Amino acid sequence: MLEVTYWDGGWLLFLMLTLPLIPMDDVLTVVNEYSGATREQAGESALPYPPPAEIALGADWLTLLEPSLEELAAAADALHPIFATAPGQQRAAVLNSLLERSAPQPRSASDGTLGWEIDAEHDALLGALSVAVLRWGDQHGIHHLGVCAAERCTDIYADAAGRRRFCSSTCLSRTKVAVHRRRKAEATTPGSTSI
Ligand SMILES: [Zn+2]
Repeated sequence: MLEVTYWDGGWLLFLMLTLPLIPMDDVLTVVNEYSGATREQAGESALPYPPPAEIALGADWLTLLEPSLEELAAAADALHPIFATAPGQQRAAVLNSLLERSAPQPRSASDGTLGWEIDAEHDALLGALSVAVLRWGDQHGIHHLGVCAAERCTDIYADAAGRRRFCSSTCLSRTKVAVHRRRKAEATTPGSTSI
């Protein structure tokens, strides 16, 4: 939704864009599919970026913002450090710097709910993604965001319950198998009494 505001006789024109709500699942998908850190760790750096339509992102905000693949990648790179830095002051500082860069402004929607607008000059994609993380952190705790604890994975996750350490069940079982193998190898090394 585009709102046009004329300033002083119409010489200056401000275009304010109402930011779409991006679900947290889509924030995770954008960062995991497009950030340099996650692509490199997954060995996908040389592969082309996946088209948004192929990775189940919500059509509503994509239609409104129409980000290019390069814009998605730039926003993903900007967001990954929120999840990778230690929770607390550092993490808040990273998120706050992204909010300062995109400068979303809080607005009361007609139904009284909190909405956000952005000056068309600013990066609407980065603004919408930053607001999504801000809202999620406010509701569920920003310390419940993280980077997968599995070896060779830097995918991110958000877990409202705060119990999760892995991006997926695949990484969880991969780690369990690795730990099991390591213990077994240790138990069967020469000098061990378990044989
Ligand atoms: Zn993982």
